[in-house]
Amino acid sequence: MVSAAAIRTEAPPTGARLGIHDVSHRFALEGQPLPVLDHIDLAVAPGEFVALLGPSGCGKSTLLRLVAGLEPPTSGRLVSDGVPIDRPDPSRVVVFQDPTLFPWRTVFDNVALGLEAQGLIRSQRHRVDEALRLVGLAAFAKAYPHQLSGGMAQRVALARALVNEPSLLILDEPLGKLDSLTRLAMQSEIVALWQRAGFTALLVTHDVEEALFMATRVVVLSDRPARIKAEIAVDRPYPRHRGDPHLAKLRHEVLGLLGLDATW
Ligand code: ADP
Ligand code: MG
Repeated sequence: MVSAAAIRTEAPPTGARLGIHDVSHRFALEGQPLPVLDHIDLAVAPGEFVALLGPSGCGKSTLLRLVAGLEPPTSGRLVSDGVPIDRPDPSRVVVFQDPTLFPWRTVFDNVALGLEAQGLIRSQRHRVDEALRLVGLAAFAKAYPHQLSGGMAQRVALARALVNEPSLLILDEPLGKLDSLTRLAMQSEIVALWQRAGFTALLVTHDVEEALFMATRVVVLSDRPARIKAEIAVDRPYPRHRGDPHLAKLRHEVLGLLGLDATW
């Protein structure tokens, strides 16, 4: 039998297996405890694409921060490929709503940041070119952030994440500030990138259609403190079609879980 370590050095990186075990979290607000996550249990298989939906302020970003290792949970355990998550790691990258590019750096140099930090930029420059090609921005390598549209800037942020060849891509409302046409196009682009690269994806969005269009599974969270209300498998092949009657049915179901079905 070939050892897992041997496979990992020879095969391209694959998606992480993520385990969230009985995770609760609270903050302190004016001296009072503010419970934010309430006994969250979630298992995400390698290469799965899970979308988290829930009311504003329920704790979605907090959960992503714990998964990224940016802070420890108040109680419970988070595990990636059997290893406890207790710090940030280049294999788990977060893309936020705001691309936060450095304005004085070119597109290439913004994307190169992660490799620079790891001392790999000299030997691995081609990975930056590849990431820019993947997001369709090869021609803009020398541009500066102020020369980009909002959608292009967000694609740079994606390339900056992809250059690390993540096994887990964490997306916190990454398309939230984009106009609706750019948003629809980028939903398809991210799905295509996910299919090609094979990473595990965890997406927070407040857009039910976006979740159903992109994810293999949608997890619906309650009001704060967030509990898992329901998990819905989106058993449809890709590329998906926005008019798919099965997705429309699921949309109705999810809106009901969010308490919004009466308006549709
Ligand atoms: P969501 O992403 O679902 O909108 P968040 O996870 O950002 O929600 O926040 C959940 C709750 O936790 C909010 O009430 C927010 O005010 C609170 N919160 C988030 N971060 C902190 C913090 N660092 N200190 C105190 N409260 C926080
Ligand atoms: Mg949030």
